Amino acid sequence: MKVKAAVKVDIERVELREFDLPATGPDSGLLRVESSGVGGSEPEYYRKPNSAPCIMGHEIVGTVTDLGEAAAKRWGLRPGDRVALEEYLPCWHCHWCRQGDFRLCMEADFFNVKDQFNTLRYGTCNAEIPPHLWGGFGQYVYLAPNAVLHKIPRTIDARHATLAIPMGNGVQWAVLDGGAGLGKSVVVYGPGQQGLGCALAAKVAGAGLVIIAGQTRDQARLDLALELGADVAVNVDEQSLKDVVMAHTGGRGIDVVVDTTGDPTGEIAAEAIELAAKGAYLNLNGLKQQVPIGEIKKRYLTVRAPRGHSYRSIEIALQIIGSGQWPIDKLCSHDFGLDAVHEAVLATAGRGIQGAIHVTVNPWA
Ligand SMILES: [Zn+2]
Repeated sequence: MKVKAAVKVDIERVELREFDLPATGPDSGLLRVESSGVGGSEPEYYRKPNSAPCIMGHEIVGTVTDLGEAAAKRWGLRPGDRVALEEYLPCWHCHWCRQGDFRLCMEADFFNVKDQFNTLRYGTCNAEIPPHLWGGFGQYVYLAPNAVLHKIPRTIDARHATLAIPMGNGVQWAVLDGGAGLGKSVVVYGPGQQGLGCALAAKVAGAGLVIIAGQTRDQARLDLALELGADVAVNVDEQSLKDVVMAHTGGRGIDVVVDTTGDPTGEIAAEAIELAAKGAYLNLNGLKQQVPIGEIKKRYLTVRAPRGHSYRSIEIALQIIGSGQWPIDKLCSHDFGLDAVHEAVLATAGRGIQGAIHVTVNPWA
């Protein structure tokens, strides 16, 4: 049987190709993809040279169709079960995997890996590596023995469930790492899919004040944030975020800051330190900023950088998505067929079709 996938064949170029549906061994399986989300990192990967051929798409939701006996036992699954997949393909035997921190596994952590393109990971690896079906922008995905799966009920809309990873990042960065919870005040930079996930996770965890910051071009997302857990949305082109924070905290400053923008300038990191209350937790982004240790000491700050998600954070995100308590559908702004993966990825970057929040691909449409 032949199945279709959209293959990145060059920089910002994709074409539909057919692949043989692979046979499964005792410890692997096959997933019939229902929906794949376009991640916030996907436009950047689409532009990246020397990363083709590749079936992109790592926010994958589908139904298990084939399952080897050992795989069924290991995963506690049967054909017909629905799952959300994580992108990582960890080794399961290193120090980090044994601690449950498989995002830091030497095989899963891209800061350790020398040749990312030839390292197995859903949505980013070389499609020439058998059995080829390593990405969500295709009709089937190969379930490798080391895949990380989350069983989900039939009642969750597949497009909603593709938000497990961006929302899971929000749970991880704002709540599990940042400690956003009862009595805490939180600032989230960037109202993209991860930022909205942070705001919602913080509110679900009980944070008393959630402020989300964006720019004029983000206005629709800022408005949506107010329906998804944020108490205050600040357009930093029009308002001083520091003034808003100080007005809402009686001048004390904020307890938890998460930067989801990837800030290349260091301006957000510098401002975050100004916004911080004593003892605050700052989840800061970027790779080249200078860290002012003196300020960290004087203000007794904890600084970390957002780095992916844990198994627990994805489970919690799926609970939030499936709870029916939040207007998750409003995040799902666009759905494309397999022949429009190019448009889907560009829309996520605000190119071509405007107003995208979270975009999905239905490989059967
Ligand atoms: Zn490992």
